[in-house]
Amino acid sequence: MSAIDLPKEPKSKAKSPAKPDATPAPKTPPVAVPRHWHSRRDGDNIHWLTLDKADATTNTLSQDVLAAFQTVLNELEENRPAGLVIQSGKANGFIAGADVGEFRSLTDAAEVERLVLRGHSILDRLERLPFPTIALIHGFCLGGGLELALACRYRVASEDARLGLPEVRLGIHPGLGGTARLTRLVPAPTAMGLMLTGRTLRARAAKRMGIVDAVTQPRHFERAARWALTKGLNTQRRPIATALLNLAPVRWALAPVMKRQVAAKARPEHYPAPYALINLWARHGGSKQGMLRAEARSIARLITGETAQNLVRVFFLNERLKSLGADTDREFRHVHVIGAGTMGGDIAAWCAMQGLRVTLQDRAPEFIAPAIGRAAKLYRRRLREPHLVRAALDRLIPDVAGHGVARADVVIEAVPENLELKHKIYREAESRMKPDALLATNTSSIPLEDLAKVLTEPARLVGLHFFNPVAQMPLLEVVEGKDSGADAMAAGLAFARRIDKLPLPVQSAPGFLVNRVLTPYLMAAVQLLDEGHAPAAIDAAAERFGMPMGPLELADAVGLDICLHVGEILADTMTGGAGWQPPKGLTRLIEQGHLGRKSGQGFYRYDKKGKPVKPKADASAATPGELQDRLLLPLLNTCVACWREKLVDGADLIDAGLIFGAGFAPFRGGPIHYLKASDTRAMRAKLEAFATQHGALYTPDAGWESLLHV
Ligand code: NAD
Repeated sequence: MSAIDLPKEPKSKAKSPAKPDATPAPKTPPVAVPRHWHSRRDGDNIHWLTLDKADATTNTLSQDVLAAFQTVLNELEENRPAGLVIQSGKANGFIAGADVGEFRSLTDAAEVERLVLRGHSILDRLERLPFPTIALIHGFCLGGGLELALACRYRVASEDARLGLPEVRLGIHPGLGGTARLTRLVPAPTAMGLMLTGRTLRARAAKRMGIVDAVTQPRHFERAARWALTKGLNTQRRPIATALLNLAPVRWALAPVMKRQVAAKARPEHYPAPYALINLWARHGGSKQGMLRAEARSIARLITGETAQNLVRVFFLNERLKSLGADTDREFRHVHVIGAGTMGGDIAAWCAMQGLRVTLQDRAPEFIAPAIGRAAKLYRRRLREPHLVRAALDRLIPDVAGHGVARADVVIEAVPENLELKHKIYREAESRMKPDALLATNTSSIPLEDLAKVLTEPARLVGLHFFNPVAQMPLLEVVEGKDSGADAMAAGLAFARRIDKLPLPVQSAPGFLVNRVLTPYLMAAVQLLDEGHAPAAIDAAAERFGMPMGPLELADAVGLDICLHVGEILADTMTGGAGWQPPKGLTRLIEQGHLGRKSGQGFYRYDKKGKPVKPKADASAATPGELQDRLLLPLLNTCVACWREKLVDGADLIDAGLIFGAGFAPFRGGPIHYLKASDTRAMRAKLEAFATQHGALYTPDAGWESLLHV
């Protein structure tokens, strides 16, 4: 018996052998060869159809691929096989989803609906084929890829397969019939949960849910397919129970519960897609045809809307950052981290989790032990399987003597922010490092030029500015000092990708990009606090704009001492040299030892789970709009300054940096994109008025001039 969890005796109708077809098996394979699809008919009259999208490394369901699939269907309907197998010719997976590029700049909802309905008719034809069909799934099977597989009678997946319908992340919901098919294949609460979260399932979990019928090794795929097509699979589907869960009273009872759950995470005015999906099911879940028609209408409306278009933009910003690290053949095997504190310890743990050998150095073993403890916790949470946890821990090696320096491909320094100490570390390390190894610093505020002074080869130093918490923050600023060499920058970007971070190349300037932009926003929040606004009201105003958490809660998470330190460094930059006094609300708390979440008290008190205890936001004197402007305008103003100063290569990278490094409301497409879509003149006028009333934090940057002419 193979590893496949099935082939037993067929029992029910669904499992009965495929009836011999009226059409005799052709002796030679009929070869209709539409672009992207390769067909083969074998001696048992089974049709093997392989998608291998031309000129692409990954299969996506573009309009072109779907059109070619229609030609395949014509052939299959005319010249019927005993069964159809659909598989992928790409090593990385089955089908990764729709071609997101085709979503860009869609504005005509009626035209989109027409295209979607054409896609529906193609998958409906696949579903109606009068012989059994099976999808053999390895690697990624997402979005449209899973929707195509759902139109097959069976799905068999390999252990490495990852299945999901992540469309909500692009501000839409499934649009190739997935909403109707999944809610009929598995219980609607399960199906809706999967579509509303957009989460990806491992093959075994998908099998438990009933989305795939069997899990096996790819080497058994052929045998599994033959078995399924000739004898049927024991699918364990429960069509009656599933149908009951689609009855109107169930839908009407469950929809409000689902909406409440979604509302805890996303507001309808920011992210309409999950709400549209719930309405779609609640109103039309009783009829497959009704649901399909409503799905087409709903997705056409969503995809042409602002949120989806901005989230598609974010998708491509993500791709752009990834591509920045693709341009080198360098290999990284060993990382040496000096300083096992908050940052160094977590950087080392992250690198080991990504498969690198890591040596971790500090002054004595007792400074390294807490980092190893945190790493073990992280691995248990993320890797789960004990052997993977063990292997990652084995790769993370305490190294007080610093032996790893001589073997490392990258040496990352993360000792306290002290120039002399960092110089001492570099002097000791440089002579022992491999000639082509990269030297990186995690400094947040010391200019790279000052750090590089003691190096024989200053060109090898770059900044790798990680964000706290390292395991959660996707962005990594790769900082170019005046002396940093092009090779070192390329290596820094490639290293970021190797450890699965998004690299953002940024010039060495106080605060780099993310801290530079966030600090005036945080300080504006404390200034509002000094003026008597309630913390919860201030944070609520930012959340209403779409920030993942308010500025005061964010300051508590960063640490108030660190915020003050960065504020002092950026004082001149923030106010155009006009001088800056730290807000009293901040200094008072620090004097009392209230440093934020880490000390259990900052702007908020923190409970045992580290959650802030927030009183309900009161409607204070200022309107929310005013509070929002007071908070957001300093942030946007600083983005304009960074753009003018060319701190990064263009406006798109400012948007990417702020979205992936600071959680700037993704559905707004990034701060500069948001500014360009707004009434820029009115915004600058507001800034000018605020500058007169509330001080230099609001002085408009000279860069607004060019923005007004965009
Ligand atoms: P930390 O104080 O938590 O850790 C520093 C570690 O360096 C300590 O474990 C200390 O024992 C060790 N150390 C001191 N002297 C050493 C020596 N001679 N040899 C080896 N190890 C030595 O500091 P941190 O918060 O991790 O910050 C480290 C660096 O990262 C700083 O440059 C900081 O500016 C930067 N940074 C911090 C954050 C943050 O949120 N904490 C974020 C980004 C960057």
